[in-house]
Amino acid sequence: MKDFYTLADLQHWDAAQAGNESPIQLGVIGDPVAHSRSPQMMNAALQHCGLKMQYARFQIALDESEAALRLMASAGFVGVNLTVPHKISAIPLMHELDDSARQSGAVNCVRFERERLVGGNTDGPGFARAIRSEFSAELRDLRVLLLGAGGGAGRAIARQCAREGCRRLVLANRTLEKAERLADELQPFFGEEQLEAVPWNEARLRSQIAHTDLIVNATSIGMRRSDAAVLPAKMLGSHLLVYDTVYAPGRTSLLDAVAEVGARGANGLSMLLHQGALAFEKWFERDAPLEVMRPALQF
Ligand code: NAP
Repeated sequence: MKDFYTLADLQHWDAAQAGNESPIQLGVIGDPVAHSRSPQMMNAALQHCGLKMQYARFQIALDESEAALRLMASAGFVGVNLTVPHKISAIPLMHELDDSARQSGAVNCVRFERERLVGGNTDGPGFARAIRSEFSAELRDLRVLLLGAGGGAGRAIARQCAREGCRRLVLANRTLEKAERLADELQPFFGEEQLEAVPWNEARLRSQIAHTDLIVNATSIGMRRSDAAVLPAKMLGSHLLVYDTVYAPGRTSLLDAVAEVGARGANGLSMLLHQGALAFEKWFERDAPLEVMRPALQF
């Protein structure tokens, strides 16, 4: 199997995958996609369950996604995950959206029903499972400060917090208008003063943190090793739970800051694991083998 396939490969699919031990019928579409750890996790699950197919990466630009999805459907794919930048733009390409995709306005998981594309979103529920497994905590008991409430992951996480009735939700985003728009959409889920959109500045964030149980970083800050912490240690307190959705490279600068003040932190590997497990469950209508998927992600 190649590190990644392209649209040109899909156009000559029989030739592109000749010689593979078992057919590729699942994958992740992204741009870039080379960093994705999903194949190692999903292939461990497929092998463990005796499902004779493989999961591969597909390097697909935004304007190629419609053609790529059509070709996958006619090649008999079971499903595909979507990552940056496809999650929102794929919505109109779906023949059907499940509740999770409709409510979050983004698709991260497609199931092919012959030529029909059914879009779902497992990022929000995957996030909730990650918080439960990392911190033994339920969103409904927490006051949450969400950093990066404008992006695809941030929107899915905010929706999940709303759906599970978290005690309070504060949305912060560099582009404030996006957080304000999201707050307007989510207002029906919250009572007075339970939901707020705040500007991205130190004073406003600092005043929120005193009344926060869980901080979530859903910005792309931390994806590069050279990135400074999205919040420095001096703004954090030991009472906090901090979840960094970034999962590479291992411990981010934010998690270094969290360790410095003695707070509890976790990185995005558990969200990656659980959103993948939920996608597997949608595709195969059976439980995902977390016990083989979790260790496969560490490499
Ligand atoms: P996205 O749609 O491109 O959104 C990026 C977000 O980061 C936006 O809110 C953006 O704010 C903010 N941002 C970017 N640069 C910033 C800066 N310099 N200062 C402040 N804010 C900044 O990306 P996405 O798909 O939501 O991904 C966001 C993060 O979630 C990434 O780190 C990704 O690794 C992670 N993620 C993890 C999982 C998992 O399973 N663990 C799944 C999905 C995503 P503006 O709106 O102002 O541009």
